[in-house]
Amino acid sequence: MKNYNEKLRDIPAVDKILNCERCKLLTQIYGHNLVVEAINIALKLLRKKILINQDMKIPSSEMLCQKVEGYLREEMSPCYKRVINGTGIILHTNLGRSILSDKAREAVDIASSCYTNLEYDLEEGGRGERYDHVEGVITKLTGAESALVVNNNAAAVLLVLNTMARGKEVLVSRGELVEIGGSFRIPEVIKLGGVKLVEVGTTNRTHLKDYQDAINENTGLILKVHTSNYKIMGFTKSVERGDLSSLAKKAGIPFVEDLGSGTLLDLKNYGLNDENFVQDVIKTGVDVVTFSGDKLLGGPQAGIILGRKEYIDSMKNNQLTRALRIDKLTLAALEATLREYLCTEKVVNNIPIYRMLATSLEELQGKGEKIKKCLLGIRNKVEVEVEVVDTRAQMGGGSLPGQSIPSLGIIIKLKNCTPIELERKLRKQTIPILGYIEKNNYVLDLRTLLPGDEEIIIKSIYDIMLEEKNIAEGK
Ligand SMILES: *Cc1c(COP(=O)(O)O)cnc(C)c1O
Repeated sequence: MKNYNEKLRDIPAVDKILNCERCKLLTQIYGHNLVVEAINIALKLLRKKILINQDMKIPSSEMLCQKVEGYLREEMSPCYKRVINGTGIILHTNLGRSILSDKAREAVDIASSCYTNLEYDLEEGGRGERYDHVEGVITKLTGAESALVVNNNAAAVLLVLNTMARGKEVLVSRGELVEIGGSFRIPEVIKLGGVKLVEVGTTNRTHLKDYQDAINENTGLILKVHTSNYKIMGFTKSVERGDLSSLAKKAGIPFVEDLGSGTLLDLKNYGLNDENFVQDVIKTGVDVVTFSGDKLLGGPQAGIILGRKEYIDSMKNNQLTRALRIDKLTLAALEATLREYLCTEKVVNNIPIYRMLATSLEELQGKGEKIKKCLLGIRNKVEVEVEVVDTRAQMGGGSLPGQSIPSLGIIIKLKNCTPIELERKLRKQTIPILGYIEKNNYVLDLRTLLPGDEEIIIKSIYDIMLEEKNIAEGK
Protein backbone atom coordinates (compact mmCIF):
# COMPACT_ATOMS: atom_id res chain seq x y z
CA MET A 1 0.00 0.00 0.00
CA LYS A 2 1.20 3.51 -0.80
CA ASN A 3 1.97 5.84 2.02
CA TYR A 4 0.51 9.35 2.30
CA ASN A 5 3.24 11.09 0.35
CA GLU A 6 3.13 8.58 -2.46
CA LYS A 7 -0.62 8.95 -2.65
CA LEU A 8 -0.29 12.72 -2.90
CA ARG A 9 1.96 12.27 -5.92
CA ASP A 10 -0.91 10.49 -7.72
CA ILE A 11 -3.16 13.53 -7.51
CA PRO A 12 -3.52 15.15 -10.95
CA ALA A 13 -1.53 18.39 -11.33
CA VAL A 14 -3.38 21.71 -11.66
CA ASP A 15 -2.25 22.02 -15.29
CA LYS A 16 -3.54 18.59 -16.13
CA ILE A 17 -6.96 19.39 -14.71
CA LEU A 18 -6.96 22.76 -16.49
CA ASN A 19 -6.35 20.98 -19.77
CA CYS A 20 -9.28 18.63 -19.69
CA GLU A 21 -12.12 19.63 -22.02
CA ARG A 22 -14.61 20.42 -19.34
CA CYS A 23 -12.21 22.69 -17.51
CA LYS A 24 -11.36 24.53 -20.72
CA LEU A 25 -15.03 25.31 -21.05
CA LEU A 26 -15.17 26.49 -17.44
CA THR A 27 -12.22 28.79 -18.10
CA GLN A 28 -14.10 30.34 -21.00
CA ILE A 29 -17.10 31.02 -18.74
CA TYR A 30 -15.42 32.07 -15.51
CA GLY A 31 -11.89 33.09 -16.51
CA HIS A 32 -8.56 31.44 -15.73
CA ASN A 33 -7.95 32.82 -12.24
CA LEU A 34 -11.22 31.79 -10.67
CA VAL A 35 -10.96 28.28 -12.16
CA VAL A 36 -7.42 27.85 -10.80
CA GLU A 37 -8.65 29.00 -7.39
CA ALA A 38 -11.46 26.45 -7.54
CA ILE A 39 -9.06 23.69 -8.57
CA ASN A 40 -6.77 24.51 -5.66
CA ILE A 41 -9.70 24.34 -3.26
CA ALA A 42 -10.79 20.98 -4.69
CA LEU A 43 -7.23 19.63 -4.36
CA LYS A 44 -6.82 20.89 -0.83
CA LEU A 45 -10.03 19.11 0.16
CA LEU A 46 -8.82 15.95 -1.56
CA ARG A 47 -5.49 15.99 0.34
CA LYS A 48 -7.42 16.30 3.59
CA LYS A 49 -9.56 13.31 2.65
CA ILE A 50 -6.52 11.22 1.82
CA LEU A 51 -5.00 12.06 5.18
CA ILE A 52 -8.09 10.62 6.86
CA ASN A 53 -8.46 7.66 4.53
CA GLN A 54 -5.20 6.58 2.89
CA ASP A 55 -6.93 3.70 1.10
CA MET A 56 -9.16 5.95 -0.93
CA LYS A 57 -9.08 5.92 -4.69
CA ILE A 58 -7.62 9.07 -6.25
CA PRO A 59 -10.30 10.66 -8.49
CA SER A 60 -9.55 11.32 -12.17
CA SER A 61 -9.06 14.83 -13.60
CA GLU A 62 -12.58 14.62 -15.04
CA MET A 63 -14.08 13.79 -11.68
CA LEU A 64 -12.18 16.61 -10.04
CA CYS A 65 -13.50 18.88 -12.77
CA GLN A 66 -17.03 18.11 -11.67
CA LYS A 67 -16.17 19.24 -8.16
CA VAL A 68 -14.56 22.38 -9.55
CA GLU A 69 -17.69 23.14 -11.55
CA GLY A 70 -19.91 22.72 -8.49
CA TYR A 71 -17.70 25.07 -6.51
CA LEU A 72 -17.71 27.71 -9.29
CA ARG A 73 -21.47 27.56 -9.61
CA GLU A 74 -21.90 28.11 -5.91
CA GLU A 75 -19.36 30.92 -5.83
CA MET A 76 -21.05 32.76 -8.71
CA SER A 77 -24.67 32.32 -7.67
CA PRO A 78 -25.99 35.30 -5.73
CA CYS A 79 -26.49 34.93 -2.03
CA TYR A 80 -29.05 37.73 -2.03
CA LYS A 81 -31.83 36.35 -4.19
CA ARG A 82 -35.47 35.90 -4.96
CA VAL A 83 -37.68 34.06 -2.46
CA ILE A 84 -41.37 33.15 -2.54
CA ASN A 85 -43.43 34.87 0.13
CA GLY A 86 -46.11 32.57 1.47
CA THR A 87 -46.20 34.25 4.87
CA GLY A 88 -49.30 36.34 4.22
CA ILE A 89 -47.36 39.43 5.32
CA ILE A 90 -47.48 41.80 2.36
CA LEU A 91 -44.78 44.23 3.57
CA HIS A 92 -42.38 41.75 5.16
CA THR A 93 -39.38 43.75 6.35
CA ASN A 94 -37.07 40.69 6.27
CA LEU A 95 -38.19 39.90 2.72
CA GLY A 96 -37.52 43.36 1.35
CA ARG A 97 -40.85 45.11 2.08
CA SER A 98 -42.60 46.33 -1.07
CA ILE A 99 -42.32 45.02 -4.62
CA LEU A 100 -41.93 47.74 -7.23
CA SER A 101 -44.39 48.54 -10.00
CA ASP A 102 -43.48 47.77 -13.62
CA LYS A 103 -42.86 51.46 -14.31
CA ALA A 104 -40.60 51.75 -11.28
CA ARG A 105 -38.57 48.77 -12.43
CA GLU A 106 -38.21 50.28 -15.91
CA ALA A 107 -37.04 53.54 -14.37
CA VAL A 108 -34.38 51.72 -12.34
CA ASP A 109 -33.24 49.94 -15.46
CA ILE A 110 -32.75 53.22 -17.32
CA ALA A 111 -31.12 55.03 -14.40
CA SER A 112 -28.69 52.16 -13.94
CA SER A 113 -27.66 51.74 -17.55
CA CYS A 114 -27.79 55.25 -19.02
CA TYR A 115 -26.60 58.74 -18.17
CA THR A 116 -29.45 60.77 -16.68
CA ASN A 117 -30.30 64.35 -15.73
CA LEU A 118 -29.90 63.40 -12.05
CA GLU A 119 -28.45 66.77 -11.07
CA TYR A 120 -28.67 68.58 -14.37
CA ASP A 121 -31.22 71.24 -15.27
CA LEU A 122 -32.18 70.63 -18.89
CA GLU A 123 -34.00 74.00 -19.13
CA GLU A 124 -31.11 76.13 -17.98
CA GLY A 125 -28.31 73.86 -19.17
CA GLY A 126 -26.52 73.75 -15.84
CA ARG A 127 -26.42 72.19 -12.42
CA GLY A 128 -29.77 71.04 -11.02
CA GLU A 129 -31.10 69.43 -7.85
CA ARG A 130 -31.75 65.69 -7.57
CA TYR A 131 -34.74 66.40 -5.34
CA ASP A 132 -36.52 68.43 -8.03
CA HIS A 133 -37.57 65.28 -9.88
CA VAL A 134 -39.95 64.21 -7.13
CA GLU A 135 -40.84 67.41 -5.32
CA GLY A 136 -43.43 68.55 -7.88
CA VAL A 137 -45.34 65.30 -8.07
CA ILE A 138 -45.35 64.65 -4.35
CA THR A 139 -46.52 68.13 -3.40
CA LYS A 140 -49.25 67.86 -6.02
CA LEU A 141 -50.40 64.51 -4.63
CA THR A 142 -50.33 65.47 -0.97
CA GLY A 143 -50.99 69.19 -0.83
CA ALA A 144 -47.72 69.75 1.04
CA GLU A 145 -45.84 72.99 0.44
CA SER A 146 -42.43 71.44 -0.08
CA ALA A 147 -40.69 68.05 -0.04
CA LEU A 148 -37.33 66.36 0.38
CA VAL A 149 -36.40 62.69 0.05
CA VAL A 150 -33.55 60.86 1.80
CA ASN A 151 -32.22 57.33 2.27
CA ASN A 152 -34.96 56.02 4.59
CA ASN A 153 -37.39 57.21 7.22
CA ALA A 154 -34.85 56.79 10.01
CA ALA A 155 -32.63 59.25 8.13
CA ALA A 156 -35.62 61.54 7.61
CA VAL A 157 -36.38 61.71 11.35
CA LEU A 158 -32.71 62.31 12.16
CA LEU A 159 -32.45 65.11 9.61
CA VAL A 160 -35.68 66.77 10.74
CA LEU A 161 -34.67 66.78 14.41
CA ASN A 162 -31.13 67.90 13.71
CA THR A 163 -32.27 70.74 11.46
CA MET A 164 -35.29 71.97 13.40
CA ALA A 165 -34.34 71.46 17.05
CA ARG A 166 -30.57 71.03 17.47
CA GLY A 167 -29.56 72.09 20.96
CA LYS A 168 -33.19 72.36 22.04
CA GLU A 169 -35.82 70.18 23.65
CA VAL A 170 -38.28 67.93 21.84
CA LEU A 171 -41.53 66.83 23.49
CA VAL A 172 -42.61 63.21 22.92
CA SER A 173 -45.38 61.24 24.62
CA ARG A 174 -44.11 58.34 26.79
CA GLY A 175 -46.55 56.15 24.85
CA GLU A 176 -44.66 56.86 21.64
CA LEU A 177 -41.03 56.19 22.55
CA VAL A 178 -40.98 53.23 20.21
CA GLU A 179 -38.39 50.84 18.88
CA ILE A 180 -38.80 49.80 15.25
CA GLY A 181 -37.08 46.72 13.91
CA GLY A 182 -34.54 46.46 16.72
CA SER A 183 -32.26 49.23 15.56
CA PHE A 184 -34.38 52.36 15.34
CA ARG A 185 -35.26 53.72 18.77
CA ILE A 186 -36.85 57.12 19.04
CA PRO A 187 -34.88 58.14 22.19
CA GLU A 188 -31.58 57.16 20.52
CA VAL A 189 -32.36 58.99 17.28
CA ILE A 190 -33.31 62.09 19.23
CA LYS A 191 -29.96 61.96 21.04
CA LEU A 192 -28.07 61.41 17.77
CA GLY A 193 -29.86 64.39 16.27
CA GLY A 194 -28.31 66.60 18.94
CA VAL A 195 -31.68 67.22 20.59
CA LYS A 196 -32.81 66.78 24.19
CA LEU A 197 -35.74 64.44 24.76
CA VAL A 198 -38.47 65.59 27.11
CA GLU A 199 -40.92 62.80 27.88
CA VAL A 200 -44.50 63.81 28.54
CA GLY A 201 -47.48 61.87 29.90
CA THR A 202 -47.41 58.18 30.80
CA THR A 203 -47.12 54.94 28.84
CA ASN A 204 -50.85 54.48 28.38
CA ARG A 205 -52.23 58.00 28.76
CA THR A 206 -50.99 61.36 27.60
CA HIS A 207 -53.13 64.51 27.73
CA LEU A 208 -52.86 67.85 25.95
CA LYS A 209 -52.08 69.44 29.31
CA ASP A 210 -48.98 67.25 29.66
CA TYR A 211 -47.57 68.83 26.53
CA GLN A 212 -48.72 72.30 27.58
CA ASP A 213 -46.96 72.03 30.95
CA ALA A 214 -43.70 70.88 29.35
CA ILE A 215 -43.38 73.79 26.91
CA ASN A 216 -40.75 76.40 27.85
CA GLU A 217 -38.38 78.79 26.07
CA ASN A 218 -36.06 75.85 25.25
CA THR A 219 -38.66 73.76 23.48
CA GLY A 220 -37.63 73.14 19.86
CA LEU A 221 -40.61 71.17 18.64
CA ILE A 222 -43.39 68.71 19.45
CA LEU A 223 -42.91 65.27 17.90
CA LYS A 224 -45.68 62.76 17.38
CA VAL A 225 -44.54 59.22 16.54
CA HIS A 226 -46.82 56.68 14.97
CA THR A 227 -46.77 53.57 17.16
CA SER A 228 -46.31 51.47 14.06
CA ASN A 229 -45.68 48.02 15.38
CA TYR A 230 -47.85 47.73 18.47
CA LYS A 231 -51.11 48.89 19.94
CA ILE A 232 -51.86 49.75 23.54
CA MET A 233 -55.30 48.50 24.43
CA GLY A 234 -57.58 49.32 27.35
CA PHE A 235 -57.37 52.52 29.39
CA THR A 236 -55.52 54.68 26.92
CA LYS A 237 -55.41 58.27 25.78
CA SER A 238 -53.30 60.03 23.23
CA VAL A 239 -53.64 63.55 21.93
CA GLU A 240 -55.12 64.07 18.46
CA ARG A 241 -52.76 65.58 15.92
CA GLY A 242 -55.19 68.47 15.36
CA ASP A 243 -54.95 69.46 19.03
CA LEU A 244 -51.16 69.12 19.04
CA SER A 245 -50.96 71.22 15.92
CA SER A 246 -53.04 74.02 17.50
CA LEU A 247 -51.04 73.89 20.71
CA ALA A 248 -47.75 74.12 18.81
CA LYS A 249 -49.05 77.03 16.77
CA LYS A 250 -50.09 78.93 19.91
CA ALA A 251 -46.69 78.29 21.48
CA GLY A 252 -44.91 79.35 18.30
CA ILE A 253 -43.06 76.04 17.87
CA PRO A 254 -43.25 73.54 15.00
CA PHE A 255 -45.22 70.30 15.18
CA VAL A 256 -43.62 67.27 13.51
CA GLU A 257 -45.00 63.80 12.94
CA ASP A 258 -43.07 60.59 12.23
CA LEU A 259 -45.83 58.74 10.46
CA GLY A 260 -43.63 55.69 9.79
CA SER A 261 -45.83 54.21 7.14
CA GLY A 262 -47.61 56.77 5.01
CA THR A 263 -50.14 56.04 2.33
CA LEU A 264 -51.53 58.22 -0.42
CA LEU A 265 -54.64 56.03 -0.69
CA ASP A 266 -57.55 56.00 1.71
CA LEU A 267 -57.42 52.45 3.04
CA LYS A 268 -60.94 52.56 4.49
CA ASN A 269 -62.05 50.99 1.20
CA TYR A 270 -60.02 47.86 2.06
CA GLY A 271 -61.37 47.34 5.54
CA LEU A 272 -58.30 48.94 7.12
CA ASN A 273 -58.28 52.16 9.05
CA ASP A 274 -56.99 55.37 7.55
CA GLU A 275 -54.68 56.69 10.25
CA ASN A 276 -51.75 56.72 7.82
CA PHE A 277 -53.43 58.76 5.08
CA VAL A 278 -50.82 61.44 4.28
CA GLN A 279 -53.23 63.94 2.70
CA ASP A 280 -55.23 64.05 5.95
CA VAL A 281 -52.08 64.51 8.03
CA ILE A 282 -51.05 67.49 5.90
CA LYS A 283 -54.56 68.99 6.11
CA THR A 284 -54.51 68.79 9.90
CA GLY A 285 -51.70 71.29 9.88
CA VAL A 286 -48.52 69.43 10.78
CA ASP A 287 -45.48 71.51 9.93
CA VAL A 288 -43.40 68.51 8.85
CA VAL A 289 -44.28 64.84 8.37
CA THR A 290 -41.97 61.93 7.51
CA PHE A 291 -42.67 58.40 6.27
CA SER A 292 -41.03 55.47 4.48
CA GLY A 293 -40.99 54.89 0.73
CA ASP A 294 -41.18 51.10 1.00
CA LYS A 295 -44.02 50.66 3.46
CA LEU A 296 -47.58 51.60 2.52
CA LEU A 297 -46.36 53.79 -0.35
CA GLY A 298 -45.30 50.62 -2.18
CA GLY A 299 -42.06 52.07 -3.55
CA PRO A 300 -38.33 51.70 -2.89
CA GLN A 301 -36.56 52.23 0.44
CA ALA A 302 -36.64 55.98 1.01
CA GLY A 303 -37.50 58.60 3.59
CA ILE A 304 -40.02 61.18 2.49
CA ILE A 305 -40.16 64.52 4.26
CA LEU A 306 -43.08 66.85 3.56
CA GLY A 307 -43.94 70.19 5.04
CA ARG A 308 -43.43 73.92 5.20
CA LYS A 309 -40.96 75.35 2.73
CA GLU A 310 -38.89 77.25 5.29
CA TYR A 311 -38.12 74.01 7.18
CA ILE A 312 -37.53 71.88 4.08
CA ASP A 313 -35.19 74.58 2.71
CA SER A 314 -33.08 74.55 5.84
CA MET A 315 -32.92 70.75 5.69
CA LYS A 316 -31.62 70.98 2.13
CA ASN A 317 -28.82 73.19 3.48
CA ASN A 318 -27.93 70.86 6.36
CA GLN A 319 -24.60 69.02 5.78
CA LEU A 320 -26.24 65.83 7.01
CA THR A 321 -28.44 65.76 3.91
CA ARG A 322 -25.45 64.83 1.78
CA ALA A 323 -24.67 61.88 4.03
CA LEU A 324 -28.27 60.73 4.07
CA ARG A 325 -29.03 61.37 0.44
CA ILE A 326 -31.12 59.13 -1.76
CA ASP A 327 -29.23 57.26 -4.47
CA LYS A 328 -30.03 57.64 -8.15
CA LEU A 329 -31.63 54.21 -8.67
CA THR A 330 -33.92 54.68 -5.71
CA LEU A 331 -34.83 58.15 -6.87
CA ALA A 332 -35.85 56.74 -10.26
CA ALA A 333 -38.02 54.08 -8.65
CA LEU A 334 -39.54 56.58 -6.23
CA GLU A 335 -40.47 59.08 -8.92
CA ALA A 336 -42.10 56.36 -11.04
CA THR A 337 -44.00 55.04 -8.01
CA LEU A 338 -45.29 58.50 -7.14
CA ARG A 339 -46.45 59.09 -10.71
CA GLU A 340 -48.51 55.88 -10.52
CA TYR A 341 -50.67 57.68 -7.92
CA LEU A 342 -51.60 60.34 -10.46
CA CYS A 343 -53.72 57.75 -12.31
CA THR A 344 -56.17 57.41 -9.46
CA GLU A 345 -58.30 54.67 -11.02
CA LYS A 346 -55.28 52.57 -11.99
CA VAL A 347 -53.02 52.88 -9.00
CA VAL A 348 -54.41 49.90 -7.07
CA ASN A 349 -53.75 47.67 -10.01
CA ASN A 350 -50.34 49.13 -10.84
CA ILE A 351 -48.76 49.05 -7.39
CA PRO A 352 -48.14 45.41 -6.47
CA ILE A 353 -48.81 45.70 -2.72
CA TYR A 354 -52.25 47.18 -3.39
CA ARG A 355 -52.97 44.64 -6.09
CA MET A 356 -52.27 41.94 -3.48
CA LEU A 357 -54.40 43.68 -0.91
CA ALA A 358 -57.31 44.02 -3.35
CA THR A 359 -57.22 40.48 -4.74
CA SER A 360 -60.64 38.91 -4.18
CA LEU A 361 -61.11 35.74 -2.16
CA GLU A 362 -62.61 34.12 -5.28
CA GLU A 363 -59.38 34.74 -7.16
CA LEU A 364 -57.34 33.33 -4.28
CA GLN A 365 -59.64 30.32 -4.13
CA GLY A 366 -58.94 29.70 -7.84
CA LYS A 367 -55.19 29.90 -7.22
CA GLY A 368 -55.45 27.48 -4.29
CA GLU A 369 -57.58 24.98 -6.18
CA LYS A 370 -55.13 25.05 -9.08
CA ILE A 371 -52.18 24.18 -6.83
CA LYS A 372 -54.26 21.55 -5.08
CA LYS A 373 -55.31 19.92 -8.35
CA CYS A 374 -51.74 19.79 -9.67
CA LEU A 375 -50.35 18.31 -6.46
CA LEU A 376 -53.12 15.73 -6.13
CA GLY A 377 -52.56 14.84 -9.78
CA ILE A 378 -49.10 13.54 -8.92
CA ARG A 379 -50.26 11.83 -5.75
CA ASN A 380 -49.29 8.38 -6.92
CA LYS A 381 -45.66 9.34 -6.23
CA VAL A 382 -45.99 9.95 -2.49
CA GLU A 383 -49.06 10.60 -0.46
CA VAL A 384 -49.81 14.29 -0.28
CA GLU A 385 -52.76 16.07 1.23
CA VAL A 386 -53.66 19.60 0.21
CA GLU A 387 -56.39 21.76 1.66
CA VAL A 388 -57.45 25.33 0.91
CA VAL A 389 -58.15 27.09 4.21
CA ASP A 390 -59.15 30.50 5.58
CA THR A 391 -56.22 32.57 6.83
CA ARG A 392 -55.56 36.18 7.83
CA ALA A 393 -53.08 38.29 5.89
CA GLN A 394 -51.37 41.38 7.26
CA MET A 395 -50.01 44.55 5.76
CA GLY A 396 -46.85 44.18 7.92
CA GLY A 397 -43.72 46.33 7.72
CA GLY A 398 -44.62 48.17 10.89
CA SER A 399 -47.85 49.50 9.45
CA LEU A 400 -51.39 49.00 10.68
CA PRO A 401 -50.60 46.90 13.78
CA GLY A 402 -53.34 44.60 14.96
CA GLN A 403 -55.23 44.86 11.69
CA SER A 404 -55.55 41.95 9.31
CA ILE A 405 -57.55 41.06 6.25
CA PRO A 406 -59.25 37.80 5.27
CA SER A 407 -57.13 35.62 3.04
CA LEU A 408 -56.78 32.01 1.92
CA GLY A 409 -53.90 29.61 2.24
CA ILE A 410 -53.06 26.04 1.39
CA ILE A 411 -52.12 23.45 3.98
CA ILE A 412 -49.69 20.88 2.56
CA LYS A 413 -49.08 17.55 4.25
CA LEU A 414 -46.57 15.00 2.98
CA LYS A 415 -46.30 11.46 4.21
CA ASN A 416 -43.06 10.82 6.11
CA CYS A 417 -42.32 14.52 6.35
CA THR A 418 -43.28 16.56 9.39
CA PRO A 419 -44.45 20.16 8.91
CA ILE A 420 -41.16 21.31 10.43
CA GLU A 421 -39.18 19.24 7.94
CA LEU A 422 -41.34 20.41 5.06
CA GLU A 423 -40.83 24.03 6.10
CA ARG A 424 -37.07 23.50 6.15
CA LYS A 425 -36.99 21.68 2.82
CA LEU A 426 -39.03 24.32 1.03
CA ARG A 427 -36.84 27.03 2.55
CA LYS A 428 -33.72 25.30 1.16
CA GLN A 429 -34.93 25.15 -2.44
CA THR A 430 -33.02 26.98 -5.22
CA ILE A 431 -35.83 29.53 -5.07
CA PRO A 432 -36.64 29.37 -1.35
CA ILE A 433 -40.32 29.11 -0.41
CA LEU A 434 -41.31 30.66 2.90
CA GLY A 435 -44.52 29.66 4.64
CA TYR A 436 -45.42 29.18 8.27
CA ILE A 437 -46.55 26.51 10.69
CA GLU A 438 -49.84 26.96 12.48
CA LYS A 439 -51.50 24.35 14.68
CA ASN A 440 -48.95 21.82 13.47
CA ASN A 441 -49.84 22.43 9.81
CA TYR A 442 -47.59 23.84 7.12
CA VAL A 443 -49.40 26.79 5.52
CA LEU A 444 -48.65 28.90 2.44
CA ASP A 445 -50.76 32.05 2.25
CA LEU A 446 -52.01 32.67 -1.27
CA ARG A 447 -52.39 36.45 -1.01
CA THR A 448 -48.66 37.20 -1.02
CA LEU A 449 -47.79 34.90 -3.92
CA LEU A 450 -46.70 36.59 -7.14
CA PRO A 451 -47.69 35.49 -10.64
CA GLY A 452 -45.67 32.42 -11.55
CA ASP A 453 -44.98 31.39 -7.95
CA GLU A 454 -47.54 28.57 -8.12
CA GLU A 455 -45.54 26.65 -10.72
CA ILE A 456 -42.37 26.90 -8.65
CA ILE A 457 -44.18 25.73 -5.53
CA ILE A 458 -45.66 22.74 -7.36
CA LYS A 459 -42.30 21.80 -8.87
CA SER A 460 -40.51 22.11 -5.51
CA ILE A 461 -43.06 19.98 -3.69
CA TYR A 462 -42.89 17.46 -6.50
CA ASP A 463 -39.08 17.31 -6.10
CA ILE A 464 -39.41 16.85 -2.34
CA MET A 465 -41.98 14.10 -2.89
CA LEU A 466 -39.64 12.28 -5.28
CA GLU A 467 -36.80 12.58 -2.80
CA GLU A 468 -39.03 11.18 -0.05
CA LYS A 469 -40.09 8.34 -2.26
CA ASN A 470 -36.50 7.47 -3.12
CA ILE A 471 -35.57 7.49 0.54
CA ALA A 472 -38.58 5.33 1.41
CA GLU A 473 -37.61 2.83 -1.30
CA GLY A 474 -34.01 2.85 -0.13
CA LYS A 475 -32.60 4.30 -3.37
C1 LIG B 1 -40.66 52.08 9.97
C2 LIG B 1 -40.57 53.27 10.84
C3 LIG B 1 -39.39 53.99 10.92
C4 LIG B 1 -38.16 53.59 10.16
O1 LIG B 1 -38.37 53.75 8.79
P1 LIG B 1 -37.28 53.16 7.75
O2 LIG B 1 -37.77 53.65 6.42
O3 LIG B 1 -37.31 51.68 7.89
O4 LIG B 1 -35.97 53.74 8.12
C5 LIG B 1 -39.37 55.08 11.74
N1 LIG B 1 -40.45 55.46 12.45
C6 LIG B 1 -41.62 54.78 12.39
C7 LIG B 1 -42.78 55.25 13.21
C8 LIG B 1 -41.72 53.66 11.58
O5 LIG B 1 -42.85 52.98 11.52
